[in-house]
Amino acid sequence: MNQQTLERFDMKAPPMHTAWYLRPLTHVLSAPDVLFHRTKIKKTRMEGLKPPYLLLCNHNAFFDFKVAMMAIYPHCANPIVAIDGFIGREWLLRKVGCICKRKFTSDMMLVKQIIKVIENGDICMIYPEARYSLCGTTAVLPASLGSLCKLLKVPVVTLICHGHHIDSPFWNLHKRGIKPTEAEMTVLFTPEELAAASKEAINERLVSAFQYDDYAWQKERGIRVTYPKRAEGLEKVLYQCRHCGAEYRMASRGTELFCRACGKTWQYTELGELQDEKETLRIPDWYEWERANVKKEVEAGLYDSGELPVTVRSLPNAKRFILLGEGKLRHSMDGFSVRGVDADGDPFEMLKPVPSLYSCHIEYEYLGKFGDCVDLNTLEDTWYIYPHDCDFAVTKMALATEELYQKWRRDSGKPNPPGLA
Ligand SMILES: [Zn+2]
Repeated sequence: MNQQTLERFDMKAPPMHTAWYLRPLTHVLSAPDVLFHRTKIKKTRMEGLKPPYLLLCNHNAFFDFKVAMMAIYPHCANPIVAIDGFIGREWLLRKVGCICKRKFTSDMMLVKQIIKVIENGDICMIYPEARYSLCGTTAVLPASLGSLCKLLKVPVVTLICHGHHIDSPFWNLHKRGIKPTEAEMTVLFTPEELAAASKEAINERLVSAFQYDDYAWQKERGIRVTYPKRAEGLEKVLYQCRHCGAEYRMASRGTELFCRACGKTWQYTELGELQDEKETLRIPDWYEWERANVKKEVEAGLYDSGELPVTVRSLPNAKRFILLGEGKLRHSMDGFSVRGVDADGDPFEMLKPVPSLYSCHIEYEYLGKFGDCVDLNTLEDTWYIYPHDCDFAVTKMALATEELYQKWRRDSGKPNPPGLA
């Protein structure tokens, strides 16, 4: 396959005002779900606020987008959306005002697009975590955010939703029907406050505004999830046994999470905790325990996935995925490498060294048919890489990406405060 001749997504197309005939549609399509979940939107310092402004939202489920549409009513926004969100509906998304981005690439064109939205007098809507939260807690924020806010000189508004992960967790999207859900919309900075603050101070406030924990939220409110298969899929995030330490041996059935290596079983309670006969564990704590283990491997210089057989699908444009071919993925102390040969016998390769990637996007059971994958991007292409017939956890690769990057920052004498990359 000659990759040079493939049609590429036009990343330079200027952002549009939401087309007048679609303006009611974004609200009409969002309202039923928001009504169903009886979402309570609490607004702070929002009196008299008019576009243009920057809207920064946390990201747990597609429902986030619907709540945002209702929160900004009667205005519309230009959201930044990853290219996979555009598949098969590019025309519509462009008319609605969406701006396309390839995840975790450093993209000067995107900054120009954001400036244009603000010049148009519109709301630029960004999910700065750039991926769905894996277990309902904050993901790392880019350190460039503070500079961006200072550059734009417009109000910075945060929209933090609670309950969306509990309603439809990333590891098993089945909707649990949680109600009420909550959202907090706050003017974090006025233009005057931005001018007076350093970019470090802006970042610090953003990181603290973005602290959320959906499982703590569920427990505090006593919200019960009675879905009988509520534990199924949890092993995607909790891939390492908390009891014996074995990796890739966790499994789930009904309300149980268990280890196939040692046989230990936990009950996933209606209040979102894991219980055995002795103790109760929180999912985000288990996840952070896994992170600490990955960090130890990285610090010791031992992290290495080994060479994994993979199927690679590419997304050069927003029409459809193209099967690139079979190859080998390795994630190690040097970062990611993917190499393979396509059906025509042409080689393909993508290298993502550690400094180029502060985090990465993963998917579980993508589109319900392809399995788990890692999503790696260049400015021109997006590859969904599916390991198969081997032991692996894409969650571990995501954790290792962040820990490798943080180690590189520390070793280069430029560490970031917690929560920033
Ligand atoms: Zn075990």
